[in-house]
Amino acid sequence: MRAAVLHHPAPIASRPLVLEDLPIPEPGPGQVLLKVEACGVCRTDLHITAGELKPLRDSVTPGHQIVARVEKLGPGVDSIHIGHRAGVSWLGGVDGTCPLCRKNRENLCDHPTYTGYSVNGGYAEYAVARADFLTPLPEEPSATNLAPLLCAGIIGFRSLRVAEVATGDRVGLFGFGASAHLAIEVLKSWNCEVYVSTRGASHRQLARDMGATWVGDATERPPVPLDSAVTFAPSGDVVVAALASLRKGGIVAINAIHLDRIPQFDYDSLLWGERQLRSVANMTRQDGRDFIALAAKIGIRPRTTVFRLDQVNDALAAVANDAIDGAAVVIP
Ligand SMILES: [Zn+2]
Ligand SMILES: [Zn+2]
Repeated sequence: MRAAVLHHPAPIASRPLVLEDLPIPEPGPGQVLLKVEACGVCRTDLHITAGELKPLRDSVTPGHQIVARVEKLGPGVDSIHIGHRAGVSWLGGVDGTCPLCRKNRENLCDHPTYTGYSVNGGYAEYAVARADFLTPLPEEPSATNLAPLLCAGIIGFRSLRVAEVATGDRVGLFGFGASAHLAIEVLKSWNCEVYVSTRGASHRQLARDMGATWVGDATERPPVPLDSAVTFAPSGDVVVAALASLRKGGIVAINAIHLDRIPQFDYDSLLWGERQLRSVANMTRQDGRDFIALAAKIGIRPRTTVFRLDQVNDALAAVANDAIDGAAVVIP
């Protein structure tokens, strides 16, 4: 099979993935072999290919928003059948036994498997995955429309849960990339008012087109106090702007793996009053299943730009340079 492989160190930093011919992998006990239909590009892939996330193996195939068909069952798998459509997300497995798993917080597992990072992912014609970590997928829409839902969508959805968004709330989205432009669809289905602060005129226009109540620049404060906010930019300034936008009791959920320094801020005016600052880490299987079911019900169709597998480095560059609206998707 053809697969895009990241070697450490990458020989050419600007084109980190190398297309190779590899044997089709065998599914082990509890695993399935998947024929990849599409794999979405996530900003986390950029952190992996740049080595900002510590390399865990000599080489790995990235990609963790995989839409696929089950091709072959490993020993002991009876939860899914050959030919079924299934999705694979960032959380590829957990130990099920650590203290956090036992508290139903598998997103924080002490011994997780990460798709496309600690195990091979979806920038390839085939992939193997744990059967119990697959997300069942509907037959519609297309694979390229479904792929961006599997990380950007699920994490955005989890961020709204972490922010404890309720029906009809006033919610701020700080940043308007792949994750936020899916989250706004969920918020509209919950009849929320959505206030978007983002840099880039094209992102602001997209937010207006998608029904935002108010749109402003990156650290601009919305005109009304918010019930909650999600920040998507890796910027501490943006986190403080979001905090400053909250009413009493409001919550800011930070949807970013990396954040630059959070500037000093005034506790009395910004955090007092039981305002809360929370981070969003990974996802649970339940987040994935709940979000995919909701996305199917309300008909979320992400905007996408499609790249072939031999253009995967161009896809990564397009995401890095903010050169496309919506999501980049790679098809084998
Ligand atoms: Zn991701
Ligand atoms: Zn665990």
